[in-house]
Amino acid sequence: PYAPIADDISRGTNQLYLVLAGGLLLLYIALFLVSLSVTRRLLRQVTENQYLAEHDVLTGLPNRMVFQRSLDEHLRRHAESGDGAIVAIVDLDRFKVINDTLGHSIGDALLLQMGERLRSSLPTGSTVARLGGDEFGILLTGATDVQGALWRIKEVLEQEVEIEGLPKVAVDCSIGYALQGIDGDTTELLLQRAEIAMYFAKQHHVGIFHYDEQHDRHDPAQLALVGEMRRAIDHDELVVHYQPKVQMGDGQVRAVEALVRWQHPRLGLIQPDDFIALVEETELVHDLTHWVLARALGDLAALGAVAHDLTVAVNVSARNLSRPGFPRRIADAIAASGLAPERLSIEITETALLTSPERALAILEEIASQGVQISIDDFGVGQTSLSYVASMPIAEVKIDRSFVTDMTTDPVHGVIVGSIIDLAHGLRMRVVAEGVESEATAVTLASMGCDLAQGSLYSQPLAYDTLRFWLTQRQSGSQG
Ligand code: C2E
Ligand code: CA
Ligand code: CA
Repeated sequence: PYAPIADDISRGTNQLYLVLAGGLLLLYIALFLVSLSVTRRLLRQVTENQYLAEHDVLTGLPNRMVFQRSLDEHLRRHAESGDGAIVAIVDLDRFKVINDTLGHSIGDALLLQMGERLRSSLPTGSTVARLGGDEFGILLTGATDVQGALWRIKEVLEQEVEIEGLPKVAVDCSIGYALQGIDGDTTELLLQRAEIAMYFAKQHHVGIFHYDEQHDRHDPAQLALVGEMRRAIDHDELVVHYQPKVQMGDGQVRAVEALVRWQHPRLGLIQPDDFIALVEETELVHDLTHWVLARALGDLAALGAVAHDLTVAVNVSARNLSRPGFPRRIADAIAASGLAPERLSIEITETALLTSPERALAILEEIASQGVQISIDDFGVGQTSLSYVASMPIAEVKIDRSFVTDMTTDPVHGVIVGSIIDLAHGLRMRVVAEGVESEATAVTLASMGCDLAQGSLYSQPLAYDTLRFWLTQRQSGSQG
């Protein structure tokens, strides 16, 4: 009889189906759970990434990108309504000194507190963001008394800060601002002008400054340039040219002086006389000097054999000497280049030495003790006597070109040059004459015992590639 067998088979098959269906169901549930948790994790990651892309990690404030976007939006919505935005930039004064002397973790703690204070002191409807470093951006709307509102913010920021394990400190800040409609109608222009106003406030210690072309004592075009300097440094728009210093006796090149220029995207090549003086009035000069220092040392190392016995001279501003961390940063730049410290010299104008002589002396001694040579630039134009600098660690004196260039036709200048050379030699300093343009000047200088000469007679400042070529030519010339 087949019936019981068939029964048995169908029971078995049904059981198998059941087990299979149950197994598949379990598998499905398991897969569903796995995919659910993966999706959740991915979603969380996306939100996190978005947060990180839009916020500053340290303070939790929106970043520059978000700030620009909010400003864009505001300008679009209120183009006609007359509800003008106030764009303000707040920059802490001497923050870098705190960072350099007390360390970065203290600096971070301070920035965190400043961020919190800004957030809590702003009227509703305003936006605050960290634009970078110790710079914050504020977008104020609907304020009737702009100056009053900003002074209140400044006051809150300047109250004493308590950081664990430290005595209370108070940090000053400078604020610059620009008004929608009056100072500009685009995000870019408003931000740039607020930044210029902030630099002005800092330079002139006025606390808060409204961007104003008419009342600038500086050429507005130049002021605008300072506003663009940060970008120039960060985007490598600066270039360094090198001018040889030549030994008078044998015509050998002993050194090159690094001279910065600015390859401006709109205005072309800008000479240092058109921007250095202004930059020197701001904290930006630290970054500028470090940039030039690193580039000059890097270029000298890259020149290799054709420059194996050359030194590179870098110009340093008074403001650089007021910062205690400066010698350390020079040492770091030298270490990064792999060159011996003796291959670097720094040029300081005599007026820079006079700004705060004790402080400058301590810093110069620290720099000289590393083996770096120190040179006094533009000597003769200031009021310094050489005996005043006799106690300083100075290897070289550069006679200002205003005495040198016409010394063969102006007898007074000739006498001045001669006596600077004698005095410097008496103090065992080497002498460089700047601005040597003619053979006659070179001959007279040599007869006076001048050590080195620099000027268009030998070479103008040269771009790196041209310098390499020039040095190679001279080397093969002197060998043949
Ligand atoms: P400086 O240190 O006195 O540099 C020498 C200047 O004289 C250079 O001008 C050079 O091109 C010019 N010069 C050279 N030979 C002759 C000549 O035979 N005749 C005449 N009339 N001039 C000559 P440059 O490159 O325009 O630099 C101007 C000034 O800008 C420099 O004067 C220096 O004070 C400042 N500077 C340049 N680079 C830097 C830098 O990296 N940092 C700082 N802080 N200042 C810099
Ligand atoms: Ca110089
Ligand atoms: Ca000079």
